[in-house]
Amino acid sequence: MINLILLGLPGAGKGTASERIVDKYHLTHISTGDMFREAMANKTKVGLEAKSYIDKGNLVPDEVTAKLVEERLSQPDIKEGYILDGFPRTTVQAELLEGITKRLKKPLTNVIALEVDEETLIKRLSARYMCKNCGATYNKISKQPKVEGTCDRCGGHEFYQREDDKPEVVKNRLEVNEKMNAPLKDFYQKKGLLTVINGKQTPEKVFEDIDAVLSNNQ
Ligand SMILES: [Zn+2]
Repeated sequence: MINLILLGLPGAGKGTASERIVDKYHLTHISTGDMFREAMANKTKVGLEAKSYIDKGNLVPDEVTAKLVEERLSQPDIKEGYILDGFPRTTVQAELLEGITKRLKKPLTNVIALEVDEETLIKRLSARYMCKNCGATYNKISKQPKVEGTCDRCGGHEFYQREDDKPEVVKNRLEVNEKMNAPLKDFYQKKGLLTVINGKQTPEKVFEDIDAVLSNNQ
């Protein structure tokens, strides 16, 4: 049984890593974002409770999110383990999660942190730009137009970068996230669950390292 949390800043490669983990270990991927959307669409009790906060522009309290996570983790489809995405974000939530997993007898087995230095993350995250004419998305590192300076889709020559993708905005976003991430890492370090992996490597090598940790568990 593998019950896992992946930690890492935006751009650290959590999405790619978790796809590969799910593929190999058949874990159930549990995203709090998806859970909220589903619960609200299905108008479940917790879903409606969450919606009442969101509609007023308020944050959903930890207790409500925790209820949703508990409901989800009690479902019978989690046979070979789970990978939690988007929860916990704070140590208060981590404490709540500990209570939940104890009650359900599905304790966390691993917390893996993907570490990438800030400079690399800024480069990765600020590489995105768009066509001014049609909005097609490109990436200076991974997806350039086939003909330099010409949009593949519409043939346009003018490009721009969204405000959110500009290096100074990206830097700020990373700092906010790092402030939340650091205490969580400490929390799980103390519990003896944390493994830090170098996320600056190729996605293949990152997965190899994760695989080495997880295959020890089985
Ligand atoms: Zn275009």
